[in-house]
Amino acid sequence: MYQVSKSKQMFEECSKFLAGGVGSQVRSAADPVLFFTHGKGSKLYDVDGNEYIDYLLGYGPSILGYAHPVLVKALKEAIEKGFQFGSETEEVIQFCRKLTHVIPCADEVKLASTGSDAVQGALRVARAYTGKNKVIKFEGHYHGWLDSVYVNHIPDSLQYWGLRNNPRKVLESAGQVESILSDLIILPWNDLEVLEKTIKERHFEIAAVIMEPIMANFGLIMPKKGYLEGVREITKKYGIILIFDEVICSFRVALGGAQEYFRVTPDISTFGKAVGGGVPLAGYGGRREIMELVAKKKCVEAGTFNTNSLQIAAGLATLSELEREGTYERMTKLGKKLSSEMKNIADRLNIPFQVQGPGPMFGIRFAEKEAKDAREAVESRYAGLYPKFRFFLLERGVHIFPTEKGEFYLSTVHSEKDIDKTLNVVEDSFKELRKIV
Ligand code: PMP
Repeated sequence: MYQVSKSKQMFEECSKFLAGGVGSQVRSAADPVLFFTHGKGSKLYDVDGNEYIDYLLGYGPSILGYAHPVLVKALKEAIEKGFQFGSETEEVIQFCRKLTHVIPCADEVKLASTGSDAVQGALRVARAYTGKNKVIKFEGHYHGWLDSVYVNHIPDSLQYWGLRNNPRKVLESAGQVESILSDLIILPWNDLEVLEKTIKERHFEIAAVIMEPIMANFGLIMPKKGYLEGVREITKKYGIILIFDEVICSFRVALGGAQEYFRVTPDISTFGKAVGGGVPLAGYGGRREIMELVAKKKCVEAGTFNTNSLQIAAGLATLSELEREGTYERMTKLGKKLSSEMKNIADRLNIPFQVQGPGPMFGIRFAEKEAKDAREAVESRYAGLYPKFRFFLLERGVHIFPTEKGEFYLSTVHSEKDIDKTLNVVEDSFKELRKIV
């Protein structure tokens, strides 16, 4: 019998001291909210003694699984040498050199601790370079919780979004300053026609287009064939900076991220999550003439913890593992097997179920057909099935994304055995689901 009573007690206790009882608000949508004791390899262990095969990987970063010996050794060594010098080290040169070799658009990089920091840096330098203010942001895309871009993201606000081709701008949080809306243009994603029309009419005031090249914060949605290429062409033509927010895709869908995977090079891209293997590490990079503004301090970028030795040690260790021959092929093969077999089982059991994604990550959705953008994703879903499915998986020892975003992340240490076991659990869970729908 599946027991999570200790987790439940701890959540109550934690909520007395930590506002909301969770470190980041998305986590409180989970039911139950789990408290963990440790992780090892592809497994997580909770305070009630349950073991799970984990596909959340700390919301993406733990790409080497948990307590990977190479990462542990590198971090121990860094700890012993002292680690917050507020200065650079030999390893910083090695790491940044590596990043510029691996990330196609990056002649130079800047480092940060979180994806939100990285987005802030990318937006600022794009505005500084172009001398313009407005940024095109797409419905359903998430770029961190910054005042400047945290708009039109979550499904709950969709009812206020207005017309598809001319959406109303909606702040996502109380306390956000309304004036930021005047610097944003919100558009539906995956629709080249609307983007082209907007750019043709308003290019003189548009500094940048920012997007997740694979939309992964509202369920997972792949770009339509030719869409990214089209966006690249039109932004180049009008001197608008194209920013790929690769906080999720970087080092995950390929070593060089989505820009390598799709062979479309933006002007600036962000990176985060997987690059630090679980240690807070992020950043952005771009063409030299753009990054020059930061180099020459015309455009300010700062951070007490930037290039902290623990980050750099984690980054170097993680990259050394990810660079191994066959790493991405293996994660892709396992991810494809898991996602396609899940789909087959669902079809066989007549469950409305969709999967999309390149393999090392993919997203699931309970719906009759694939979604192409945020509105379709919300409108076509069978709301309420996902949390039930998640619970059936948890009971059987598989831990997945707590909310309907429904991403699955593979690590370098997931095994065939993990996948086979997961597929058995998925089949049993779909059968349970069948009984109640
Ligand atoms: N951009 C994207 C695409 C993200 O997915 C996230 C986090 N989910 C962020 C930015 C913000 O990153 P962080 O949570 O590290 O601030």
